[in-house]
Amino acid sequence: ESEQVIPAGDVRAEYDRLVDEVRRYRFAYYNEDSPLVSDAEFDLLYRRLEELEQLHPEIVANDSPTQEVGGEVSAAFAPVIHLSRMYSLEDVFSLEELEAWVEKASANAAVQAPDQKLRWLSEVKIDGLAVNLLYRDGQLVRAATRGDGTTGEDVTHNVLTIKDIPQRLAGAGWPSEVEIRGEVFIPSEAFREFNRVLEEAGKAQLANPRNAAAGSLRQKDPAETAKRPLNMYVHGIGAREGLAAASQSETYELLRGWGLPVSPYSRVLDSLAEVLEYIREYGEKRHELIHEIDGIVIKADSFAIQRALGYTSRVPRWAAAYKYPPEEVHTRLLDIRVQV
Ligand code: NAD
Repeated sequence: ESEQVIPAGDVRAEYDRLVDEVRRYRFAYYNEDSPLVSDAEFDLLYRRLEELEQLHPEIVANDSPTQEVGGEVSAAFAPVIHLSRMYSLEDVFSLEELEAWVEKASANAAVQAPDQKLRWLSEVKIDGLAVNLLYRDGQLVRAATRGDGTTGEDVTHNVLTIKDIPQRLAGAGWPSEVEIRGEVFIPSEAFREFNRVLEEAGKAQLANPRNAAAGSLRQKDPAETAKRPLNMYVHGIGAREGLAAASQSETYELLRGWGLPVSPYSRVLDSLAEVLEYIREYGEKRHELIHEIDGIVIKADSFAIQRALGYTSRVPRWAAAYKYPPEEVHTRLLDIRVQV
C-alpha cells in the first residue's frame, strides 16, 4: 500500500497541517460566520484528515477536530450549558457509502433492539445553523447556538425576535422542561430580496443564506437580528423527561400541536429503496424548496433504536447526512490531495 512508503515524518507533517487548516476554517465558519473556503473544499480536507487518522491511528491527537463537534463558543456571548448534548452528523458523500452505512446501522439495530421495527425518518438537510430552545412550563426561557456541543452561546434575545418561534407553547402535555432543536435559516426568496435592498442602498451584500442566517442570529444587538428574515424548522429534541412519544416523527406531531414550525418535507420510509427515491426526488427539486439544502438526513425513527445505537463523541450512530455532489467545485484541495 502506498501509505507504507510515506516516511513517518511526512505523515506527521501532513497531519499537523491538516489539523491546523481544519481548525482555522472552522473558526472562520462558526465564529466569524465568514468561511474562507467552500463547503466542498472543507469536506474534502476533513475527509483526508479522517482517512489519515484511519491509516495511522497512532498519530490521532486527543483534541483532533474529528473528535469534536464543530464550533467554539465566542466570548461575545454568555456561555450556556445544554441540558442534553448536541451533536453533529456523520456525512456520506455517495449513494454507495449511504447503502453501506444503512446496512451497518440495520445490522446493529437488529442485534441491539431486536423487537423494534427500523424505519427511516427522512428529512432535508437545511442549510442554516442549529439552535437549542429551552422551554420551562411552556415558556421559552433560553435559546443557544450549538457551540462545541456541550456549551453553546446565549442568543435568547435574538431568538425572541423570530416570529416563527413561539414564546409560549400552545396546547398541553409538554414536559415541564424540554429542549427543542431546530435549524434557523433565511428562506431563499427572502435572501434574494434582502440582498436586492442592500444592493440598492449601495451596501455590501450577504454571501449566502447559511452564513447570513448565522451572522444574523449572532448579532450583538437584537434590533439588528429583528431586521433579518429568519425562520426555523424543528429537527430534534434534547432533554424531554416525561415526553409521551415513542418516535421522532410522533414527537414532531406533538411539537406541531404546540405551535412549533415543523418541516413540511419530512417523511417516514420503510426501506433503503424508498430512501434512495427520496434522495433522487429532492435532488431534482432542491431549488424549489423554501430554503437551501445541502443534503438529506436519515434518522432511525424509533427512540428505542436511537437509544440502543447511541453516540460517538461527535455524532449519533442512528443518523447520517447524505451530501449532494457540490454544484460548484473548487480544485485547490484536489491539488493538495494529489500531492500526498
Ligand atoms: P453538518 O452541518 O454536516 O451536520 C450537523 C448539523 O446539520 C446539525 O447541527 C444541524 O444544525 C444541521 N441540520 C440541518 N438539517 C438537519 C436535519 N434535518 N436534521 C438534523 N440536523 C440538521 O455538521 P457540522 O458539524 O455543523 O458542520 C459541517 C458542515 O459545515 C459541513 O457541511 C461543512 O462543509 C461545513 N463547514 C464548512 C466550513 C467552511 O470553511 N466552508 C468550515 C466548517 C464547516
